[in-house]
Amino acid sequence: MPKLSIEQIRKDFPILSLKPNGKNLVYLDSAATSQKPAVVINKIKSYYEETNANVHRGVHYLSEKATQEYEGARKKAAEFVKAQSPKEIIFAKNATEGINLVAQSWGHTNIGKGDRILLTEMEHHSNIVPWQILAKEKGAIVEYVKINDRFELDLKDFEQKIGKRPKIFAFTAVSNVLGTINPVAELVKKAKAFNCATLVDAAQAVPHMAVDVQEWGCDFIVFSGHKMCAPTGIGVLYGRRSVLENMEPWMGGGDMIKEVHLDGFSHNELPWKFEAGTPNIEGAIGLAAAIDYLQKVGMQSIREHEKEITQYAIGKLSQVKGLQFYCPKNPDKQGGVISFNVGDIHAHDLSSILDEEGIAIRSGHHCAQPLMEKLGIASAARASFYFYTTAAEIDALAAALEKAREVFKLK
Ligand code: PMP
Repeated sequence: MPKLSIEQIRKDFPILSLKPNGKNLVYLDSAATSQKPAVVINKIKSYYEETNANVHRGVHYLSEKATQEYEGARKKAAEFVKAQSPKEIIFAKNATEGINLVAQSWGHTNIGKGDRILLTEMEHHSNIVPWQILAKEKGAIVEYVKINDRFELDLKDFEQKIGKRPKIFAFTAVSNVLGTINPVAELVKKAKAFNCATLVDAAQAVPHMAVDVQEWGCDFIVFSGHKMCAPTGIGVLYGRRSVLENMEPWMGGGDMIKEVHLDGFSHNELPWKFEAGTPNIEGAIGLAAAIDYLQKVGMQSIREHEKEITQYAIGKLSQVKGLQFYCPKNPDKQGGVISFNVGDIHAHDLSSILDEEGIAIRSGHHCAQPLMEKLGIASAARASFYFYTTAAEIDALAAALEKAREVFKLK
C-alpha cells in the first residue's frame, strides 16, 4: 500500500494554507466536518456554470445533463459502499436525516407498544433522539448496550440485551467521542440471529475506511458528505432493497409520487419514493467528486495514515502531565479521534488557548450527553484527524497543551 504524501495532499486543500491569528492553521476538527479539496469546490462551481437545471423534470439539454450527473452520483455512492444497486441509495440532508427517515418510516410500521429498540451508550444524539421520539409515540422501550472501562462496547451486556429480542439495533461503527471502532459485522450477525433489524451509523466510518455493506450485512447505514470532503447538506441512507421496498414514504411532495389525484396518490419507485421535493443536486454532484478524490488517495492508505497519526498523538499527549484520555488506544480499535481533559482545565478554556495558537479542536459534550454522563464528565476536548493531518500538527497541539498548563498554573 503506498504511503501518502501528506505535503502533496495538503496542497489540494486551499483552506489549509490559512493563517488564523497569524499562526499556521492546525485543523484538528475533521470529525465535526472535513475540509474540502479544490476538485470538489471547482466541481460545484462548474456545475452552476455549465449544468444547473432541475432534475427528473425537463426534457431539455440542461435538465438531462443535471439528471445524469445527479443519478451518476447515486451510482458512485452505491459502488463506494458496495451496495447491490443504486436503488438502495437514498440521498438525504445528512446522517441525521437518514436515521429520522428510518425511525419514522420503518419504525412506524414495525415498532409497537412494548417493543424494544436497542442502542448503545456511545451514540451521537442523532442516533438516540429519533428513537426516543418513536418510542414515546409508540410506547416502546429504548435500551442501551453499556460501555466498559476500556471505552469499548460491553459484549456480555450486548448478548444479554439482544437476547431480549429488540426489533432494531441501531449503533455507531465508530464513536465520534471515544474513537472506538466497533466490530460491526460481528454485532450484525448476532442481531440477525434474533431476527433484529440493524442500522449502522457510519458517519465516522465511511470517510475514514473502506466500508462494504455486504460484509457488514446490515439493513441500513447512514453517513454525511460533509465529513468526507463533500459539501454540507448531502448525506446518504443505504437500505437493503427488500427492506426499503416494504417501507412507506416518509415525506410527501414532488418527485416521490407516481400519480396524484384529489382522492390520493401512488408513490414513485425506489429510490425516489424517499426523495420528496427538489433534491440537493449540487451536493450530490459534490459528493461524487469527493468520492472520486478519496478513491484516488485510497481508503486503505487513509486508514493507515490515521492509524499512524493517532498512535503518534496518543504517545505525544501521554507526556502531557495530568492529561486523561477517553479512548481505547488499541490501534486496531481506535479511529482518528481522541478525547481528553487536562487536569481541571475546562475543555472550552483549553480550546480557547489552543485557538490563539491557530489550533482548532472541539470541546463540549460532542452531541453525546448520555456518554458524557457515563464517563462522569461534563465536557471533554477532542482532537480529530484526517489524511491531511501531519505529525508537526500533533507536535503543535502537544506544545499548546503545555502552554495551557502553564497559563492555568497546573502542577
Ligand atoms: N453520528 C455520528 C457518529 C457523528 O459523529 C455525527 C456528526 N458529528 C452524526 C451522527 C450526525 O451527523 P450530521 O450532523 O452530519 O447529520
